[in-house]
Amino acid sequence: MSLPVHPHRSPPVFVIGSLVVACCARVPRCPEPGESLLATGFIMEPGGKGFNVALAAHRLGVPVDGVFAVGDDPPGAFMRAAFVAAGLDEALICTVAAATGAGVGLIQDDGDNRIAVYPGANAHLSAEHVLGRADRVRNAGLVFAQFEAPDAAIAEAFALARAAGVTTMLNPSPYRRVPDAILAATDIIVMNEPEAKALALDRLWIGDEDGLAASLAEAGVATLVITRGARGASAWHNGKRTNQPAFPVATIDSIGAGDAFAGGMIAALIQGNDIDQALRWGCAAGAIATTQLGLARALPAAAEIRQMLDNAWDFSG
Ligand code: ADP
Repeated sequence: MSLPVHPHRSPPVFVIGSLVVACCARVPRCPEPGESLLATGFIMEPGGKGFNVALAAHRLGVPVDGVFAVGDDPPGAFMRAAFVAAGLDEALICTVAAATGAGVGLIQDDGDNRIAVYPGANAHLSAEHVLGRADRVRNAGLVFAQFEAPDAAIAEAFALARAAGVTTMLNPSPYRRVPDAILAATDIIVMNEPEAKALALDRLWIGDEDGLAASLAEAGVATLVITRGARGASAWHNGKRTNQPAFPVATIDSIGAGDAFAGGMIAALIQGNDIDQALRWGCAAGAIATTQLGLARALPAAAEIRQMLDNAWDFSG
């Protein structure tokens, strides 16, 4: 049976954010170099991994704190409005001297896609931005960071959190080498299989995932979580491995499943559940998030997750 989660008693998650205006055109095929062709659809929506995870946690009843950046431009105004419309606090957004982050995607009818993301303002989040919110970092229930934010901001937040005994969770995506200063202050790493392979290479680890988890534990990262799409996820914690199969759902669009998964884990952990239970919450949130086109409207509320976990228990019991 799933443990109860009490949204109203939760301390906040502090998110080292990213905000990206995502522009996607649907095309029968991607144009050749120098060619223009007519798109058959277009959508502009709020995105960015930091935004997605903040929204996922918010939907699950977790108060959201953090730091996000936009430029003083029309896309920045769009992101601010979208942030507020999603129920998040506009005061978490600062304006920096750079263009607002934006992504341009071409989605072919057969599902293949080409995407370019310009970090813009996100790359200007600094250690000073985090230091200006030091007390809020220290008072968070958990600090979450992803790699659309720069190293300096993440390192500062994680150092503050570690010194205050606040749990830190890193999703090193899009993947780049994790600096030692960040790794040394990370409690939980959550990533997908390709990212885990890249991390293993960077650590010159040629063994299996169990060994990777052990080597990270030696480096001070107590918990490793690897997500595997429709095959579920695994967690290593205190020398123990737990495999969680995916919850069977009718998947329509799996973009952003990892962000929903992180939000689910955060909600469970911040309310005092253990890693195994958080893994189940992550998998349930990730599964539900794939059942509709687009991420924002597919992100589940806590009641939907509880129902999925209870049904799974009834089934297996
Ligand atoms: P990312 O989006 O970072 O690549 P994954 O694709 O591994 O992350 O998805 C994160 C989690 O979401 C998975 O561990 C799984 O629990 C859930 N999930 C993703 N795709 C599906 C699916 N097709 N069916 C059920 N659950 C899924």
